Amino acid sequence: MSFKELGLSEPILRSLEELKHTEPSEIQQQAIPIILAGKNIMAAAQTGTGKTGSFVLPIIEMLQERAKPYGKNVHALVLTPTRELAAQVRESVYTYGKFTSITSTAVFGGAKIFPQKSKLKKGVDVLVATPGRLLDLVNQKAVKLDQVQILVLDEADHMLDMGFINDIKKIISMTPPVRQNLLFSATFSPEIKKLAQSLGDELVEISAHSPNTTVTKIKQVIYHVDKNKKNDLLAHMIEDEQWTQALVFSRTKHGCEKISKHLNAAGIQTGTIHGDKTQGARTRALREFKEKDVRILVATDVAARGIDISNLPFVVNFDMPTYPNDYIHRIGRTGRAGQEGTAISLMSVDEHKFLRGIEGLLKIKIDQTSHEAFKPTDKPSSGGGGDSRSRNPRGRKPAFSRNSRSSDSKSGNSFSKPGGSSSRPSGAGRPGGSGAGRPGGNNSGRPSGNSAGNPGGNKKTGSKAKTRWKKT
Ligand code: AMP
Repeated sequence: MSFKELGLSEPILRSLEELKHTEPSEIQQQAIPIILAGKNIMAAAQTGTGKTGSFVLPIIEMLQERAKPYGKNVHALVLTPTRELAAQVRESVYTYGKFTSITSTAVFGGAKIFPQKSKLKKGVDVLVATPGRLLDLVNQKAVKLDQVQILVLDEADHMLDMGFINDIKKIISMTPPVRQNLLFSATFSPEIKKLAQSLGDELVEISAHSPNTTVTKIKQVIYHVDKNKKNDLLAHMIEDEQWTQALVFSRTKHGCEKISKHLNAAGIQTGTIHGDKTQGARTRALREFKEKDVRILVATDVAARGIDISNLPFVVNFDMPTYPNDYIHRIGRTGRAGQEGTAISLMSVDEHKFLRGIEGLLKIKIDQTSHEAFKPTDKPSSGGGGDSRSRNPRGRKPAFSRNSRSSDSKSGNSFSKPGGSSSRPSGAGRPGGSGAGRPGGNNSGRPSGNSAGNPGGNKKTGSKAKTRWKKT
């Protein structure tokens, strides 16, 4: 199926050709014809699947044919949870619509409001906005929403997690009752379903991947490590395995700065993005990372939501995410656009409880290991916290030295790219002796069952995968 067959016209096909987007992704194949038919959709799509194009392309196509907005009016309104995502979606509208007359702008907090107001004066076809700043602009009569024809809720699950529900309801009530509604979410909680229902009847449900699962090409590994050794282990892995780039998640802003300080002291160029930084500093850090001037970017969940960095080989959960949904979103930063990627989680003994929630949501078991030079010695505090024993089929205390679970190889991905090689640097590129300290003696340092030739991810719970516990 080509973009042309999906019903997109010449000016859009030209920009797609320039971008070398030769084939629509799975979500694009499903969503574009339905949206062009004027229907409402509720789509389960993770970042990295081409979901932005799946709504931006048909919106540009439809608005090309319609009358232009005038005086502070907006025809398509896209709501996003974060400033970074708003800027990114707007960039896509601009790039895909380069050969059309579609106008667009993005408005978000943390940036001066006056320039945003002046861009809205003549009205825009597509406005991308974070909810808080949009309401400020409405209150200041800088924008009108009563001619909105298409409403998009992008990463709706994040918007609810961030407490935007009342703002969203308020915004929806300001738009005309008859409009096209497009809701995108990586996960479908009962709250999301309720929000979808409030948008009106006749929502067509589509799903590029089943909800609540991670992109299948991402290799996931948990490293057991003591809390106070995480910084050293991370620096060691980056250098020893010659990572080109990695996005590291920290639960707190303070944590981001501490990790960055440690890595910079170890000679690894590192930047940070989190809520305590000015918008200018966040934009600069992201640009430097995207341009590969900086090797490591450390971010909080909120700051990093939805950001798209192509060819990002590694995501690291320095802290285990407290909420299972955050795990899906974090690791979705790698393995984008059909590329492979590796998600590494550093788990201290007090964080085992979070793993239970993640595996429960994903319905998979994630490979676990430890690094020879950073074996954990911390014991669970009395009263529990660690659930490691529950994994040991013989009731023995697990050694964490090697818990290889065989992997299935789910075929295909959103961009139908054939085969592909490992995103990790080849063995030849690594220092010769680096394999020695690895569990199981394989050169990758990863559990052996999850090799590049079998990148499909991790075994589904309930399948016949055997858990092998090996004594050290
Ligand atoms: P998204 O899921 O919208 O964040 O998109 C992830 C990445 O995929 C972005 O860098 C897009 O430019 C890229 N992309 C989107 N659609 C396609 C396509 N059909 N072919 C190749 N790359 C694409």
